[in-house]
Amino acid sequence: MERESLEMGVVFVGAGPANLSGALHLARLVSDHNHGVANGKREGKPLGDIQIAVIEKGATVGAHILSGAVMDPRGLAELIPDFVEQGAPLETPVKEDHFLYLTRKHAIRAPITPPPLKNHGYYIVSLNRLTAWLGEQCEQSGVNIFPEFPGAEMLYDESDRVLGVRTGDKGIDAEGKRKPNFEPGVDLLAKVTVLGEGVRGSLTKKLIQRLGLDQGCEPQIYSLGVKELWELPDDRYPTGRVTHTLGFPSDQWTYGGGWIYGMQNRIVNLGYVTGLDYRDPLIDPHAEFQRYKTHPFVAKLLNGGKMIRYGAKAIATGGLHAVPQLYADGVLLVGDSAGFLNGARLKGIHTAIKSGMLAAETIFDALVSNDFSAGKLQSYEQRVKKSWITPELRRYRNFHAGFRHGRWLGMVNAGLQYITGGRAWGIFDRDHQEAGHEAVQKLAAYGYHGGGSAQRYKDLRFDGALTFNKVTDVYHAAVAHDEDQPAHLHVLDKNICATRCAEEYGNPCQRFCPAAVYEMVDDGRGTRRLQINFSNCVHCKTCDIMDPYQIINWVTPEGGGGPDYKGM
Ligand SMILES: Cc1cc2nc3c(=O)[nH]c(=O)nc-3n(C[C@H](O)[C@H](O)[C@H](O)COP(=O)(O)OP(=O)(O)OC[C@H]3O[C@@H](n4cnc5c(N)ncnc54)[C@H](O)[C@@H]3O)c2cc1C
Repeated sequence: MERESLEMGVVFVGAGPANLSGALHLARLVSDHNHGVANGKREGKPLGDIQIAVIEKGATVGAHILSGAVMDPRGLAELIPDFVEQGAPLETPVKEDHFLYLTRKHAIRAPITPPPLKNHGYYIVSLNRLTAWLGEQCEQSGVNIFPEFPGAEMLYDESDRVLGVRTGDKGIDAEGKRKPNFEPGVDLLAKVTVLGEGVRGSLTKKLIQRLGLDQGCEPQIYSLGVKELWELPDDRYPTGRVTHTLGFPSDQWTYGGGWIYGMQNRIVNLGYVTGLDYRDPLIDPHAEFQRYKTHPFVAKLLNGGKMIRYGAKAIATGGLHAVPQLYADGVLLVGDSAGFLNGARLKGIHTAIKSGMLAAETIFDALVSNDFSAGKLQSYEQRVKKSWITPELRRYRNFHAGFRHGRWLGMVNAGLQYITGGRAWGIFDRDHQEAGHEAVQKLAAYGYHGGGSAQRYKDLRFDGALTFNKVTDVYHAAVAHDEDQPAHLHVLDKNICATRCAEEYGNPCQRFCPAAVYEMVDDGRGTRRLQINFSNCVHCKTCDIMDPYQIINWVTPEGGGGPDYKGM
């Protein structure tokens, strides 16, 4: 097939906070250098017109961005010191922090907020809006942004040097044939390609495997955040209040917690995080969140309100031990793709922004010396080590591992981690941890008879007022995919589904997916088969992470498809 090739200077894959910050910072560094050389204030040669491109699979910048979000402004303040005056879309400064322990019936307020969850001086933001604004700042600085352009494949030379990225074809029908609107993807050739695809990036996953970038580090551990926005009838929950909860509905062996953030105009943003290293094979993170809302404290808060938006996305909570090698010939990893989220604080925006800036500084040096080899780009890893990202992650490096010993020991460990700067004395160390999907037990081992989720969620009803089933929720994520295209969820061996997986785990894809993509249906001949409702997919990546046989491969669908997380 004839494909167009475009020579770019630098290509950033994914328009999230990490890459947009990287692209903006790089554009400014190059421009300052060129001006400095032109008016004799800097030595060296001008770099000329370096084409910087950011490609994004969503229909617009921010469409696929889902977060809490309470933002530590440290990163943004380094990128744009006067971000408030410049009009960054901030909902509100955080005005109060609450930390609650939920029993089945009661909410017990802790006398002190655990230090990692103190948010004084931070902002509640819609990351969707903040990202869109960062995109505008990039365009004003000359960065080319291409929404609806998914990075579908990395381009390598014969010695595995990354040459750029191939974008996805458009106009392929469900049978794999070309439709009248067919347009082949473009080969974007770059001196450096920066992968900022967020959590479990589809290109990042393959790159790490191909180049062995995760050798010597621990497997990444994930959680899934499921959230809704609600419009309340009155001012019962103040703008700027941040509440974090622990306890109900998670069991002792399941990592999890809830959040409730007060936004403007009587909107509350609430959600629940479930660790994707749970043991109980019947866990359904969407159902956990729905149960969360049935707690008397949460139900009372939402009473008379209206659910207006829904979304779900995985979170990389493995911490410092799971950060892979961050560079190779012609490529760098930033933000969540590199695993820079601080799980104890549930914060990754500030580290994403900072890592994008450090990548930009590294690329600028590489442009000046015209050397884009791994040897040159290695300095990015040094920069990350010397920056505040590494001490922050080091302090909580064994945070998540403590919860393998149950909730209470996990909390004890979290406190000790804070006091001792992350030490774990060989008890709570993150070393040699299994990947999250390996923690899930088989039905029989857990004492279940078959895969009916009612065994765990006996009391959960979807009443359409407080609690919603997945299909209703997905409607509120405004998901759209052209249905006449090949499914972008590749199940590598479907024979397992109706046999081994049904027997061993009761087809957990039906539960861990928060968007009702996977369904076991009767094929009309008395046997069951897997049906993939790919058009529901909210791009959370949980299936790729959590499948016990690791046979689900999430790849990018046609550009522009997916959720539209406006205001989330
Ligand atoms: C539920 C939840 C709550 C959170 N709460 C907070 C919080 O309160 N505070 C905080 O600081 N952090 C929070 N985080 C974490 C924070 O959102 C992330 O750390 C941050 O967004 C990471 O930025 P990023 O640029 O690395 O990736 P992302 O923000 O994920 O952006 C990646 C972008 O790349 C695009 N993309 C992916 N693959 C491709 C491809 N192949 N081709 C083209 N485009 C692609 C995606 O569509 C997306 O737009 C939360 C995360 C979640 C899920």
